[in-house]
Amino acid sequence: MITIPFNKPYMTGNELKYIQEAVNLGKISGNGEFTRRCHSFFEQRYGFHKCLLTTSCTDALEMAAILLNIQAGDEVIMPSYTFVSTANAFVLRGAKIVFVDSRSDHPNMDETLIEDLITPKTKAIVVVHYAGKACEMDTIMDIAERNGLWVVEDAAQAIDSYYKDQPLGGIGHLGCFSFHETKNIQCGEGGMLVINDSQFAKRAEIIWEKGTDRAAFFRGEVDKYGWVDVGSSFLPSEVTASFLWAQLENLNAIQAKRKAIWQDYHHYFAGQASSRQVLSNLYLQQFSKVLQQARLTDNYQVCPEDSSPNAHIFYLIFEQLSYRTAFINQMKTAGILTVFHYQSLHRSDFIQKYQGKNKQPLPHTEHYSDSLVRLPLFFEME
Ligand SMILES: *Cc1c(COP(=O)(O)O)cnc(C)c1O
Repeated sequence: MITIPFNKPYMTGNELKYIQEAVNLGKISGNGEFTRRCHSFFEQRYGFHKCLLTTSCTDALEMAAILLNIQAGDEVIMPSYTFVSTANAFVLRGAKIVFVDSRSDHPNMDETLIEDLITPKTKAIVVVHYAGKACEMDTIMDIAERNGLWVVEDAAQAIDSYYKDQPLGGIGHLGCFSFHETKNIQCGEGGMLVINDSQFAKRAEIIWEKGTDRAAFFRGEVDKYGWVDVGSSFLPSEVTASFLWAQLENLNAIQAKRKAIWQDYHHYFAGQASSRQVLSNLYLQQFSKVLQQARLTDNYQVCPEDSSPNAHIFYLIFEQLSYRTAFINQMKTAGILTVFHYQSLHRSDFIQKYQGKNKQPLPHTEHYSDSLVRLPLFFEME
């Protein structure tokens, strides 16, 4: 029986109150009072140029691909160790996905391999800040600028993470966040597109509102609204936005708690790598039993200097698949659910059918697919 789940979505207690308020306002379709509140919260707290709530990070990524005018045959560089949506958004526009390997010390993309992958067809680099830890953005932005490429940050896991005092999602030309229930801040299903390059702001709003200039109409900027571009229904309802607002009000408390749990793990694994002394906590007692047989590598805490991650995931990396499998099974027997993820995208059935097998092997990506495990980390953990 599982006594400690992998994740438990946190409810602050005010979600229903704000949903009731939205209902009382009598307008629960998108882009209403709570949506505006959420936008200005993010714009003020992080200095983002313009924010648009979406129904998911997947949608925000799809908006990014439309905004950058990605066409059939364009090439987009991204890691293979990521969720399918990072690639799917660009595949929907006919792009060829060019996969870059992960770093040897971290699942994030190895920025030193990017430049060799650029061709005249390359249009964009999509970075993924895995576990809320920053990619080497100075190097990546420099490569993009020298080669005339766009940078999209898949910051799905990276709300409230920083790279050298800059919030993640606010560094590339566009940033995409997720508020899925597995993320730090959540509204069930939700997301946000951040427009950092102001030239995209006006068109982003049109694509968001089904290809119409309805948002400008409601601000009184045009006297009627019509069909002016391609678009889709990317905006969430006020039911979702009001739920999210309850989370945003508690963002500091949520982050403080997650960071404390992350630090507890960190102290345990980093401080006692050799002795692995048993702590009084029952959960860690279970751990230490299992870990006596596990073969861990020591690189789970690596992240760039001067960056401050958001405690989204605490992961361990084993030397090989069989050790990880044994660990997960033993933890399950102890009632604790631990999970692995990202089957490398370059080895997926779909992408191999779509664009053929990857020419280069991606050894680090494949290693993380086989060896990384995520430990439970949620607000209500003791
Ligand atoms: C969660 C996640 C997504 C998808 O987010 P949704 O809001 O569920 O669409 C995309 N990319 C990464 C890296 C993620 O972790």
